[in-house]
Amino acid sequence: MNNLELKQRDLDVLWHPCTQMKDHETLPLIPIKKAEGVYLEDFDGNRYIDAISSWWVNLFGHTNKYINEKLKEQLETLEHVILAGFTHEQVVRLSERLVKLTPEGLAKCFYSDNGSSAIEVALKMSYHAHLNDGKKDKNYFVSLTNSYHGETLGALSVGDVQLYKDTYKPLLLETIQTPVPVDMSIEAAKKAASEFELLCKSRSSEISALILEPLVQGAGSMHMYHEEFLVLVREICNRYDIHLIADEVMVGFGRTGELFACQKANITPDFLILSKGLTGGYLPLSVVLTTNEIYAKFYCGYNEHKAFLHSHSYTGNALACACANATLDIFENENIIEKNRVIAKVMGDKLERFLELENVKSIRQTGMICAIELKDYPAELRIGLVVYNYGLQNGVLLRPLGNVIYFMPPYIITNEEIDKVMQTAYDAIKSIS
Ligand SMILES: *Cc1c(COP(=O)(O)O)cnc(C)c1O
Repeated sequence: MNNLELKQRDLDVLWHPCTQMKDHETLPLIPIKKAEGVYLEDFDGNRYIDAISSWWVNLFGHTNKYINEKLKEQLETLEHVILAGFTHEQVVRLSERLVKLTPEGLAKCFYSDNGSSAIEVALKMSYHAHLNDGKKDKNYFVSLTNSYHGETLGALSVGDVQLYKDTYKPLLLETIQTPVPVDMSIEAAKKAASEFELLCKSRSSEISALILEPLVQGAGSMHMYHEEFLVLVREICNRYDIHLIADEVMVGFGRTGELFACQKANITPDFLILSKGLTGGYLPLSVVLTTNEIYAKFYCGYNEHKAFLHSHSYTGNALACACANATLDIFENENIIEKNRVIAKVMGDKLERFLELENVKSIRQTGMICAIELKDYPAELRIGLVVYNYGLQNGVLLRPLGNVIYFMPPYIITNEEIDKVMQTAYDAIKSIS
């Protein structure tokens, strides 16, 4: 088997995610044969550093020995069991640990199998919790401008990246957007929070929840803001009886420098959504954590019809939960958050250099996420694609978002590998100017 053969067989039968398939007439599809640590290897023996953690999911490298071992153990014991009426050890242990590790007050775990479906769960739970309280008019969700919460219709409705949303507008829920802080300054945080408060003053009786990506808007081109915004909107939500939903699908599990981004602001959301890094990048799994207060609103006699009748076939899959427990073991045993601070510093120091390039507009960093914004090239030039191709030719997987190049590597990356990734990006940007 070689790259070419697999690529042709693929294009005969596959339709790839988030892709104009015609691009693959010229753009090489890359079949991956195996992976280890930060490296992906194709069928022709080329190796690529996975600088984007395979769409932001991988934490401790590919085919991680410890997670492999724990997954194999679980495979011999229990692969999956229905989670309605039944339970298992991995899901109980995982839930106990998540309740302990997440912000104080989050006490109950509801599982699903990907980020988008967990968003749906949180939206429905928020609306339903108000309804169970006798509040029938809270039919609107508020989200931030430039936000991204996934691709299913509910998640798309609260998102604000027009590239993904526009086509489906007639199908979507009507939602309200309030401005995201324009930059990382505390002034921008205060200004955006006061705009949200203005909205609450006029419409709070109709608003069920504010949903946001804490600190970093991922698919919205790694837009970053100050943690004071979270402090302020938490307080405003409390005053106006609006839930706060924290979508930590991307920023959770150490990406921002704390285990969870909400911890930077020392706040507890009413709903916390986790997925991507939850299993270390091994298997699909997501979870919505909420408070006992919310949980209690659904707890009553069957005939009161207040139960949350939502389910997914693979809810709480045992193999995925085993990977999640193994991932949490690594956090616990290897002092990862501390080690990440050192790596983040190394990346931050090297990031400064990009400002030398005349086509770089700005740089930004939050913990283990670094981004470089290029000057506004017209979209038709597809500058991101140029950088992507340059990276591949030089052994690095970069996948820019429009004019923004970013690094979000697995936490096991070495200084030499960081050097290689950032030098490749530097040369790629230089080659454009
Ligand atoms: C990726 C992502 C989602 C959607 O998760 P999927 O597993 O891709 O459905 C939701 N919110 C954020 C912030 C994400 O980055």
